[in-house]
Amino acid sequence: MYPFTVVIISGFLTAQGQKCISVASCLNIDHRKNYSHFMINLHRNRHRMANCDTLAKDFQEWKFSPSKLLQFPFDPIKENFVRRNVKNSIFSFVDPTPMTDPKLVSYSVDALQNILNMDVEITKKKEFAEFIAGNYVLQTSNPMAHRYGGHQFGYWAMQLGDGRAILLGEYVNSNGERWELQLKGAGKTPYSRDADGRAVLRSSIREFLVSEAMYYLGVPTSRAAAIVVSEDRVMRDMLYDGNPKMEKTAVVLRLAPSWFRFGSFEILQKTQENDLLRDLLDFIIKEHFPDISIESDDKVLEFLSSVARLTSDLVILWQAFGFTHGVLNTDNMSILGITIDYGPFGFMESYDPMYVPNASDHEARYCYGRQVEIVLWNLLKLIHSLTPLLSDSEAQQAVEMLYAEGSYVVSKLMKTYSEKLGLTESNSELIEMLLPMMKDTDADFTMTFRQLSENRLSDLNKPKSCLWALYRLSKHENYPTFIEKYNEVLEKEGISDDERMQQMCKINPCYVLRNWMVQEAINKADENDDFTEVDLLLRVLMKPFTRQPEAEKHGYGNPPPNWARSLKLSCSS
Ligand code: AMP
Ligand code: MG
Repeated sequence: MYPFTVVIISGFLTAQGQKCISVASCLNIDHRKNYSHFMINLHRNRHRMANCDTLAKDFQEWKFSPSKLLQFPFDPIKENFVRRNVKNSIFSFVDPTPMTDPKLVSYSVDALQNILNMDVEITKKKEFAEFIAGNYVLQTSNPMAHRYGGHQFGYWAMQLGDGRAILLGEYVNSNGERWELQLKGAGKTPYSRDADGRAVLRSSIREFLVSEAMYYLGVPTSRAAAIVVSEDRVMRDMLYDGNPKMEKTAVVLRLAPSWFRFGSFEILQKTQENDLLRDLLDFIIKEHFPDISIESDDKVLEFLSSVARLTSDLVILWQAFGFTHGVLNTDNMSILGITIDYGPFGFMESYDPMYVPNASDHEARYCYGRQVEIVLWNLLKLIHSLTPLLSDSEAQQAVEMLYAEGSYVVSKLMKTYSEKLGLTESNSELIEMLLPMMKDTDADFTMTFRQLSENRLSDLNKPKSCLWALYRLSKHENYPTFIEKYNEVLEKEGISDDERMQQMCKINPCYVLRNWMVQEAINKADENDDFTEVDLLLRVLMKPFTRQPEAEKHGYGNPPPNWARSLKLSCSS
């Protein structure tokens, strides 16, 4: 039940048991930020394309840059066996486990060329697939696994760490950006606990595609450069229902400026390794937060408020696109405010704040409508992890800061939702009319906004049935009043219809990576070794704001098929 349109969720931040925060959490979007991100990305691509002649065509021409991560203390044990209680280390050295006969099945041209400065020619070399599989370790690589902890589903889970992700090294590209290259699914590490260190094809395709799709939507994210598949198989009980199956394994080469997470700090606080906690913080500030002085007495507070703001802006974008992460544990929260560790994520189809993509999340802890509250809770855990570096009064200030951050998110959510309607001012009245109507009529989230964007106001009164999402919405008894008010507000703001449509089409995508789309691509890949649909999705989602004939032909602009409703996802990957 919704007390009113913008559902108000009261989340209690139990920092020292004192603070509570109220968060409006069913909407989201920051158009301007999203739009500017998008434009920056396009601009950067164009700029980068100019340097094509310096791209590496083989591994004689490409090497890792000297690693800054080697300055940390490493686990002194070099053998690769499970260790539940690693201490006084940030990383453990570990080599990837080779795969049998890896085949390259897809790659992102943009990530290869513009992040890694590799020419696509390199993908034709046999070593390329071997490199992605972890079979060919370059001499300049220092493979390692990171030790971290985390709160999973609200409870401290102790040491976790990279159980199947292996960081190969860092690369400083021609734009001076430092990127960390990680293989996901490259075999066991000291942090694998009882698991096998592998990732199956279906989850790897999902991570590969969504990383790139999020980037092109303008949402901060880790990137994916390439995916290989092997005939090596592992057992997975996909839905944890007692029906295990042997599945093909795969590896994704994924990229991020940093893979440190909230859990990177949490483990050090829990084990009272305060010197290492301070060193890690100083490193991250120096490398990734150049606006914070390492000499400043307030650096910890400044760091916390920077991470809080990056994270708030991120969750606003998730809400804006109906993206639901699925497993927002603190070990899956990037210290840089980028989306990482894709698992049972989903782009919401019918608007529903209770939308839960992860079939194992029975309490709906990580539903769409609670993501804001959850990331604030996670930020509280981050504050807590840095309390050894804070006085009591500073810790109090940090919590106050988070309380204020809650208000920032609430008002920015309203603003971004209003922008999704083409408005320049926040308009809670309209939003609080629209969202419950969408909920009541099961209107498609993405297409409702898109069809509002693509059609003249005069055609919105009685939408034709081909405007399938709006047509559904228009059956609501409040729809005529909403359209009337919408007209009034636009007139008052002096926004012309052309201007409105133009602005809205830039920020309301026509295509998002819906689970049924990726599932179709996975089925073809898994059953017939046919990766054409993976490539098609990658191509289409590079231009999510532009209608494309090949996407329309494949039904990507149509209502989801009926079977999509029964599609289930779990953490099993
Ligand atoms: P995730 O839910 O994917 O973020 O993973 C949570 C923790 O479980 C992390 O420490 C992962 O490295 C670990 N993990 C998940 N799957 C595997 C696997 N197949 N092998 C080893 N560790 C895994
Ligand atoms: Mg994870």
